[in-house]
Parts: sequence; C-alpha cells; structure tokens
Amino acid sequence: MQNLKDWETVIGLEIHAQIISKSKLFSGASTNFGSEPNTQVSLVDAAMPGMLPVINKDCVKQAIKTGLGLNGQINKRSVFDRKNYFYPDLPQGYQISQYTQPIVGKGSIEIDLKNGNSKKIGITRLHLEQDAGKSIHDLDPNKTYIDLNRSGVALMEIVSEPDIRSAEEAQEYVKKLRSILRYIQTCDGNMEEGSLRCDVNISVKKKNEDFGTRCEIKNVNSIKSIGQAIKYEFHRQVEIIESGDKVQQETRLFDEKKGETRPMRTKEEAHDYRYFPDPDLPPLEISSDLIGEIKKNLPELPDVKKKKLIDGYGLSSYESSILISDKNNVDFFEAVINENNQRN
Ligand code: ADP
Ligand code: MG
Repeated sequence: MQNLKDWETVIGLEIHAQIISKSKLFSGASTNFGSEPNTQVSLVDAAMPGMLPVINKDCVKQAIKTGLGLNGQINKRSVFDRKNYFYPDLPQGYQISQYTQPIVGKGSIEIDLKNGNSKKIGITRLHLEQDAGKSIHDLDPNKTYIDLNRSGVALMEIVSEPDIRSAEEAQEYVKKLRSILRYIQTCDGNMEEGSLRCDVNISVKKKNEDFGTRCEIKNVNSIKSIGQAIKYEFHRQVEIIESGDKVQQETRLFDEKKGETRPMRTKEEAHDYRYFPDPDLPPLEISSDLIGEIKKNLPELPDVKKKKLIDGYGLSSYESSILISDKNNVDFFEAVINENNQRN
C-alpha cells in the first residue's frame, strides 16, 4: 500500500493563450471564431509557395502587455524560429515560433490558496507562435476534413517554472493567469472555445529528493480537468515507482469521460524539430519607447485591485480574491460603491 504522504507532486504548466487581435500573426486574415470553415484563410495561412509572412504589430503589443502583466522581462530583441513537423493541418510543414530568444523572459504570478497563504509561481518565458489548423474527424466515417481558419492565429505560449506542488495550486495558477489576461484584454480566456489551452507537466518525488521524470499531459481544457488529470497522474506515477519501475518520459492525453490519462506518444526532443531562425523574418526589435507607452496604459491588475479592496473597503483577503477573479464583478462592486457615495 502506498504511503502517499511521503510523495510530492512537481508541476509546470505550458499555457497557450490566443491573442485578442483582429487579424492573424503573419497575415491579414480575420480571426473571428465560429465562421464557415476555410473562409478566413489567406495565401500565407494556406502556405502557398513563395508567400511571405509579415509580423502583425498589434500582436506584438499584446505580447508585451501580457509580459508586463506577468511581471516579466521584456526582451528588446527576439527571434522567430521554424519548428519543423508534419501534420495534415499544418500546411507549412513547420510552425513559426520562438525558441532560444523569446519576446518575454522571466516573470511571476502570485496565487492565493484556500488556507489563506499566497505563493509566487515563476514564469520561465512567454513566446509568440502561430496556431495550426484543425482536423475534423467526426463529420464522415471515412474522411478527415481540414479547416484552416485557425491556421496562423497568434498564440502566446506561457511556460511556468516547476514551482507548482498540488492540483489546487495548478488550478489557482490558471485562474489567476486567466483573470490577468482578461483584465488586460489580451486573451478572452475562454477554455471551451480553445482560446486558453493547458499542457500539464507532472512528475513525482519523495520529499527532499531531486525532481523525477515528467510526463506531459496535452490539452487539458478545463480547470476541473486540470485537477482530475493531476490527481490521476500522481497516483499512476507513484504506483509505478513503488512497484520498482521507472516513469517513462512521454506525452499523454487526458480522457475527460474516464477521468484517466493515457499514452499518446513518446516525448519528442527539441532536436527532433530541427529549430532554426526563420529566414523570412528579421529579428524582432522593440524600442524602449514602445514598452514605456504600453506600460503607461496598462490597466489596473488584479493584485492592485485586490489591495484596493482590502485597504480601501475593508474586505478580507478571501472576499477580495473572489471579487477580483471576475473583472465584471469587481467593476460592478465599485460602480455600486461610487453610486452610493454620490447619493450620500
Ligand atoms: P519542453 O519544451 O520539452 O516541453 P520545457 O523546458 O519547455 O520542455 O518545460 C516544459 C515544462 O515542464 C515547464 O513548465 C517546466 O516547468 C516543466 N518541468 C520541467 N521539469 C519538470 C519536472 N521534473 N516535473 C514537472 N514539471 C517539469
Ligand atoms: Mg514544451
């Protein structure tokens, strides 16, 4: 029988957040959700030979804004790389992403836990990349259809340090990140529509031991599933180690219906993708003026708002964190107070 108290979970999250922007990262095609398939596909998004990507300045500004919202280091020079792989919904045969030189470096997010404590979770990086299209398997028993509307849409990949130690912390991290993104209006945070997608990296270890081998669980797409997937995976990995085996580093999928994870593929290494700088795109140079201007116009962040609720209105930390988790609620709360003050 396992003594689960001896074991610790180590978790790092990779979150793909779709940027709010009218057009795609490297083309002028619309990003509108729910349109007829293949109606928002420029020649660039369809990867016609000889097409040239052109960076969308608004997406760059959104990434800088998000970096600032995550207390992140904005890199004045970043580089776009090609990440090469074959997939039917990736007509280019590579994804344009950022690898060794991302637009945002180290940052952090503060999360609030049920026991009243707060904890800082490190952000490793935020990089810009394009989304792939979508394969549709359930329209016809014998055919797969491809919809390229999503192809080329701008994503921010936000990678956390392996600082998360429980399902609760992981869930609070995603909630806090989502509320920051919504406050600053850089991603709508809608997990059902896929605007926010979460990959969970998880390993287990005995307390005081070094980190163990991790598995990456792909596309865990609700806060509830994140909790379930982590708990399932924790038990699975502990069981493997306690029976004398080793955890295999692999990519797994979470089955929402069964509440289980199952293997998808063995983990690919960076060299499998043969990353190299995209020769079609010059390095991205950002001026201090632009960063300064975005900083100046940054809306009030959830943590600042929370402090205001505690100091200004005498709410408890718990009450304030509930109110700030949804910007509409806190806006309403403040509007009511202002209205009341005006009447008195
Ligand atoms: P990859 O590109 O292979 O996914 P990264 O260096 O980008 O690798 O790391 C992915 C994520 O895995 C990060 O969020 C990181 O915090 C997390 N991570 C790294 N090592 C471990 C570990 N031993 N256990 C759990 N998570 C880990
Ligand atoms: Mg990764």
